[in-house]
Amino acid sequence: MSECIFCKIIKKELKADIVFEDESIIAFNDINPKAPVHILIVPKKHIESIIKMKESDKEIIAELIWRAKELAEERGLEGYKLVFNCGKKGGQEIDHIHLHLLANNS
Ligand code: 5GP
Ligand code: ZN
Repeated sequence: MSECIFCKIIKKELKADIVFEDESIIAFNDINPKAPVHILIVPKKHIESIIKMKESDKEIIAELIWRAKELAEERGLEGYKLVFNCGKKGGQEIDHIHLHLLANNS
């Protein structure tokens, strides 16, 4: 966990282009964007994956989706994708839950 890249971004030990932050969530631009808009929305609590989430984590996951909706609205996006990669076999490379917000128009 101490080596988790996203925890380091949360602790400001590693730089990121932060677009939103509150007490429970941070959102920043993906370093290697796969679309013109590619934002990662991340809970400050270190939860490895949707696969590992507990029922008590339901609220924070709902918050990620709400924040994605708000960030999309701020940017005037008319359509977008929200993606959770789940587990290595689901394409997840960083073991700290994150929601990808992807869009073609900004
Ligand atoms: P995953 O494949 O785990 O669902 O997505 C991880 C994402 O994190 C990838 O899109 C990758 O480009 C992004 N990423 C990896 N390392 C960093 C970093 O240090 N900073 C930022 N901003 N994004 C990162
Ligand atoms: Zn972490």
